[in-house]
Amino acid sequence: MQDNHGHKISYLRVSITDRCNERCGYCMPSELQEWLPREGVLSYEEILRVVGIAAGMGITKVRVTGGEPLTRRDIIPFLGRLCSIAGISEVGVSTNGTLLSKTVPGFATTAGALLAAGVRSVNISLDTLDSEAYAATTGRDYFGRVMSGINDALGAGFERIKLNAVLMRGRSEGQLLPLVEFANEKGLLLRFIELMPVSSGDVLSESSFFPTATARRSLEEVFGKLQPRADFRTNGPASYFAVPGRDQLVGFIGAMTNLHFCETCNKLRLTCDGKLRPCLGSHLEFDLMKEIRGGASDKQIVEFIEHVVRRKPMAHDFRENYQPGRKMIAIGG
Ligand code: SAM
Ligand code: SF4
Repeated sequence: MQDNHGHKISYLRVSITDRCNERCGYCMPSELQEWLPREGVLSYEEILRVVGIAAGMGITKVRVTGGEPLTRRDIIPFLGRLCSIAGISEVGVSTNGTLLSKTVPGFATTAGALLAAGVRSVNISLDTLDSEAYAATTGRDYFGRVMSGINDALGAGFERIKLNAVLMRGRSEGQLLPLVEFANEKGLLLRFIELMPVSSGDVLSESSFFPTATARRSLEEVFGKLQPRADFRTNGPASYFAVPGRDQLVGFIGAMTNLHFCETCNKLRLTCDGKLRPCLGSHLEFDLMKEIRGGASDKQIVEFIEHVVRRKPMAHDFRENYQPGRKMIAIGG
């Protein structure tokens, strides 16, 4: 599948819920959150049908996200079915890590159950190693849970565990080095992510923005010049650099400042309320749930997906005076 700008589409990010057990200000509105009613969210059966059809069109990788995907009931059997769809070679999960240690029927930890279901990689969000700062960022005092979740994920034996840290001025400065050291110690692939304008304006003001280049320079003061590793890519848009004298790579996701950011985009997004989005940083979205629930045939869904791919923009609109529309939690990060 290819769009009109030469992007080859092979990756579907699927949000399975808009609910979350944390309250990160950059992701959800500060006013009281109103969750979607159950019937407003795609059922597992509906998602599996869409992924099955998309797999026949060239989608090979799926990442399950939310909200917090591990808060949705019966996620493990769903993931097992997702992983066994013909043509899907890799399924990953993005999580805040707080529920990875939770016991689930038949498994000592959710991390172990995810691996047994066939999930190959987990991305865990962690912006800070300071438990008080963690609580201030996420609105929850769950730092200990995340640490234990990371350890259980490491114990489970995933192919790859990534750590995602959102950069914010006034919060990230003292955390860059501890996060790099922590990732190195644990063998995790750390990525620093620029804040994107997908939440309330107050959190996303100019004064909160912390560019990846500043983070890199600050690490270079400690480690010396980081070596670009253009040859190393994961499925996403991170640029990786090697830390001198170490067997460690650190990724930078410069959504706002990297002008080449969109060139390698291979992604479509399915929101939990059934909208297919060709780009996170564009307000374009197409109502796939309406098609599915209106009785669309598989052929009609193929045509629908092809139409959305044709509408994929060359690049996101974040730099073009973009006004936050749907929050990250409602789109799926
Ligand atoms: N709850 C899971 C988690 O926190 O990893 C999965 C969903 S979350 C929306 C996915 C990722 O989006 C997280 O790494 C989070 O830090 C990131 N994110 C949320 N809001 C963001 C924003 N405004 N700018 C950049 N990244 C953001
Ligand atoms: Fe929840 Fe993840 Fe959004 Fe934080 S970033 S509020 S953990 S969905």
